[in-house]
Order: sequence, then C-alpha cells, then structure tokens
Amino acid sequence: MVRTIRRIDEIFTLLKQQLHTYGKSVVSRKKQKILDTPFITLISCLLSLRTKDEVTEQASRHLLIKYNTPEELVQLSEQQIASLIYPVGFYKTKAKRIKEISQTLLDKYQGKVPDQFEELLTLKGVGRKTANIVMVYGHKKHGYLPIDTHCHRIPNRLGWIKTKTPEDTEHALKKILPTGYWDDFNDLFVTFGQTICVPISPFCSRCPIHQYCKKVNVKSSR
Ligand code: SF4
Repeated sequence: MVRTIRRIDEIFTLLKQQLHTYGKSVVSRKKQKILDTPFITLISCLLSLRTKDEVTEQASRHLLIKYNTPEELVQLSEQQIASLIYPVGFYKTKAKRIKEISQTLLDKYQGKVPDQFEELLTLKGVGRKTANIVMVYGHKKHGYLPIDTHCHRIPNRLGWIKTKTPEDTEHALKKILPTGYWDDFNDLFVTFGQTICVPISPFCSRCPIHQYCKKVNVKSSR
C-alpha cells in the first residue's frame, strides 16, 4: 500500500472537469428538491442498494415527493410502500425497513435522523455506506468517506490500495487520501465508475486519468 497518493490534485481536477458531462450520482443530486433532508437522503440511499440509479430515482420520486417525513411514512402500510417503490431490488424488504426505521425515528429521536455515525448504525438495515452517505450528504458533516462498489473498485485499479472489502477500502483510503478530498470523493468516483471506469471492460481509451492508473486486475478495456 502506498503512503500518499501521487498527483492527487491533478487527478481530482481532471475528474471534476469532466463531471458535468457524466451527470451526478443519485443520492447527492442537489437539484432534486426531494433529496434535501437527512431523512430523504437516508431513505433514498436505502432504496438505491442493489438497484440501478434510474430505478432508484423513479422510486424516490414516487415515494418521497408525497411522503417525505417519518410521520407520513408510518401512516402507510408496507404494501403501500412496496407498490410505490416497485421495482427497486428487494422492494418488499425495503418497504418493511422503511416503515420500521420511520417508527424508530419517531420513537427514539423525535422524528429526526440522528447525526451521530454510531447511532445511525443502530438503525435496522443501515450499514457503514448508508451511514456515511447520511453524514456527508444529509447532515453535511465533514470527516466521512462513503464507499460503494465504485469507490472500492477504482482506487484498487489505480493502485492506490489493495483491499478486499469496501470497509477495508474506507479505512485504507482514510490513511492516504488527504481530508480535503473526502467530501467530493464519493460523488466523483461513483459518477466516474458509472460512466468511464465501469466494472467490466472500462473505457481506458477515454479516461482522463489513464496516465496515473496502474490498471491493477484490469483484464480487458475499451
Ligand atoms: S485507466 Fe482504465 S482502469 Fe484506470 S481509472 Fe481509467 S478507466 Fe479505470
């Protein structure tokens, strides 16, 4: 593992320059009014797990434009929630979780989403990635690094780290990525991973940072 990331400033600058042509990741899209509160960030993130972005976006709209507080969501049955969020992955389980979480927030937190990372992890169905997303995009707190599949895969391909799980990646990156880059990291790398450094056969020929990449375990590219 390297101790620092060489040319990190150039890498972020190059990626940011292209970001507007990629579009932005669902959970952090600031233009969408429905995604402004910590609660909405939390629910959108739960909906997005194992689900394509366009499906998440549509489901978030169906559910959250009308029902966007725990008070409103607990009034719905699991079946009603499930039919509003269909066809997101595991929609029945997610409907159950959404209702449970809404009830827990009302019972334990006066209807607010806690702004303590460890407290978020106590909510059923909330893992490190979701908790980190809520801290960064919902509560606008610094010092958190949400790691999804793209944020795990790309730093390994670049040769920055050598890790097996997203959680290992979070810990490894926190050691080598200066904190000034943490707030932008998820948004930038998710978008980059959806468009250029895709899971299978990445588009290395049009990658803005190819000169800084070791292409670790990249067996074929376009
Ligand atoms: S050169 Fe290829 S593998 Fe490396 S970051 Fe760019 S797209 Fe990904």
